[in-house]
Amino acid sequence: MEIAELHQCFLQCDGVSIDTRNIHPNSLFFALKGENFDANEFAQEALDKGAAYVIMDNKKLITDEKKMLYVPNVLGALQQLAKFHRKEIGLPIIALTGSNGKTTTKELIATVLSSKYKVKATKGNLNNHIGVPLTLLSFDYETDIGIVEMGANHKEEISFLCELTDPDYGYITNFGKAHLEGFGGFEGVIKAKSELYDYLQDYHKTAFVNADDPRQDAKTLTFDRYTFAVEQEADVQFDLYNAQPNATVSISGVTIESNLTGIYNATNIASAIAIGKYFGVSTEDMKNAISNYIPTNNRSQWTMVNNSNILLDAYNANPSSMEVAISNFIQLQTSQPKILILGDMFELGKESLKEHHKIVESLQDNTGIKAIFVGKEFYKQKEERKKDHLLYFESFDNLQEYIKSNLDTFQNQSILVKGSRGMALERVLELLQ
Ligand code: ATP
Ligand code: MG
Repeated sequence: MEIAELHQCFLQCDGVSIDTRNIHPNSLFFALKGENFDANEFAQEALDKGAAYVIMDNKKLITDEKKMLYVPNVLGALQQLAKFHRKEIGLPIIALTGSNGKTTTKELIATVLSSKYKVKATKGNLNNHIGVPLTLLSFDYETDIGIVEMGANHKEEISFLCELTDPDYGYITNFGKAHLEGFGGFEGVIKAKSELYDYLQDYHKTAFVNADDPRQDAKTLTFDRYTFAVEQEADVQFDLYNAQPNATVSISGVTIESNLTGIYNATNIASAIAIGKYFGVSTEDMKNAISNYIPTNNRSQWTMVNNSNILLDAYNANPSSMEVAISNFIQLQTSQPKILILGDMFELGKESLKEHHKIVESLQDNTGIKAIFVGKEFYKQKEERKKDHLLYFESFDNLQEYIKSNLDTFQNQSILVKGSRGMALERVLELLQ
């Protein structure tokens, strides 16, 4: 089946589905293979649940020639269809990558641009070789601007996603220590994230750049760029970034407040405002959009439980985001005593021990703040760094026992909860209730 033909079929359908547990009526179902399943086997189920057609790559399982359409490789077909569709509708696209803050920044940019345009953006965190095609296929002829989050944990992934997306604009939130394992160290991270810049340069597109970030400046960007900064000279000049109590930025005497915590979110907000300015959104509209934005999905969220203020940042963690989250939390002015509940950071390869050690070390002299570490990697620090204010639990179950028998300790406190996705530390909230 030719891609143009597949595209005609896609246009007749209402979107795309890839999971039989969640099929949109009249959608085009792509029978992808996962580690433990092959959706070719669920083709009939997909049709029964309302899919219009199923795209599959196992001829033997085709039982309905009209509705089960064969392609040599389902994933490849999904990706090529997305690329084709993007070309057909031809809208301006902003691509985002970086080690931390992509989803937050994507949502802030979408919020800001939505005051003037019809914007569609990556849903949630669908930022990989499947999520990016799904995002592109969600754009339609009515969309004015598309925003695509691109994630990567190994090199050449971003350049592949750029080939599919053909972005007109790009922004790298930051270069941090995430997925060190797959990138082969920090230099590898910088190189891989810069694949977005390489693409923009090769195709004469535009980058939005945080001119205050020395790592971005160090790279000699010779192509079109539109900069923002508070310290350096830039196209969009901010007067001030602030983080007490929430992230705030000031521009031309106007202060824009948010519901996000942490100075790193001031940078995320500033990038959204710079992009909004580029696209002609008024400062007044941006101020309203940012102040009405409420973060979702356990990212930098304050919750009140048992008279304690809990900063739930349990969505994910890596050394860079851990570091900024801790320093932000320590600097916050609160009347309550502070507790840190920190979970292991995954995917650090041979740097893992060293990076966990650094976090513990940074807190060992801060005896006024109780730090509770949970997970196998943090637990390895226990023998070496024994202090009264540092507690170690090898597993979540052990932590659970401790919290249950010491609930009083967790009352009327300010508590930061942060760890890798696999630690699922949002479970702490239930324990404290
Ligand atoms: P993922 O790789 O999981 O898609 P992401 O890049 O989309 O992550 P977010 O989900 O927006 O990032 O934020 C995750 C966490 O990263 C936040 O909760 C916060 O702790 C931290 N963070 C957000 N923005 C920044 C930033 N500009 N610099 C450093 N850390 C940040
Ligand atoms: Mg994300």
